[in-house]
Amino acid sequence: MKAKQLRPFIIGNWKMHGTQRALRRLDTLAAGLAKQNNKANNAKPRKVDIMICPPATLLLSMAGQLKAAQDAGQQIMLGGQDCHAEASGAHTGDISAPQLRDAGAKASLIGHSERRTDYNETNKQVQAKAAAAHAAGLMAIICIGETLKERRAKATLPVIGKQLRESVPQDKPKDNRLITAKNTVIAYEPVWAIGTGLTPTGEQIAAVHAHIRKALIRRFGAEGERIRILYGGSVKPSNAAQLLAIPHVNGALVGGASLQAGEFLKIIAAAREIG
Ligand code: PEP
Repeated sequence: MKAKQLRPFIIGNWKMHGTQRALRRLDTLAAGLAKQNNKANNAKPRKVDIMICPPATLLLSMAGQLKAAQDAGQQIMLGGQDCHAEASGAHTGDISAPQLRDAGAKASLIGHSERRTDYNETNKQVQAKAAAAHAAGLMAIICIGETLKERRAKATLPVIGKQLRESVPQDKPKDNRLITAKNTVIAYEPVWAIGTGLTPTGEQIAAVHAHIRKALIRRFGAEGERIRILYGGSVKPSNAAQLLAIPHVNGALVGGASLQAGEFLKIIAAAREIG
């Protein structure tokens, strides 16, 4: 199956890092992107979608900052890190998808392995959260990935297939609620590669991404060819070009390296070079 060229998507997940001071990073990021765009203008740059998912406390301030960057020509989208499955209610400490949207987010990570591990989130809960994100007009970035034990047991593909099947919401044509490449992104993140410095081999990543692509096409037809599949897990400047060149890898979900504007810029620059 030939891999379709899709616009690369690079997402920075700041996790529970950063207070207001961290917003300075965005100025460095916007300035660096301006440089990349100017340099690339002559050479017809590859367009790359860029998003930052900061802690919830920074969403609103960051939305203002990103608006200013956008007015200056640098498009950086804002995303949440999780949302509740309900739109509102008695759920102390939780944030709903409409609240994320109200704060300026365009998307939310859903089912990140840290949520699945720390809060025992099941595929069913992840699916409900993704449906809530869609209902609020947000893009759902649905995270899936195997543990080291599952990889060693050679269960990676079945595990990934089940997570995908059960975590992605069903098409609901009656409610005009369809899964599209605009509202859904899949992030393949092997649990054992997150924050560890370890990455699967290129062949291992290629096999999983091809498996996900096939499953998406089987379920969503032509739309499944356009849904972007990101790789996440210890992506850094030194391995970004290699990882982003793997067939059906349409971008990266970046944790640690997104906390340094310089590192994140290098990963974005690598994405511009692919293709
Ligand atoms: C992540 O948080 O989704 C992630 C992939 O983290 P890291 O890049 O630090 O491995």
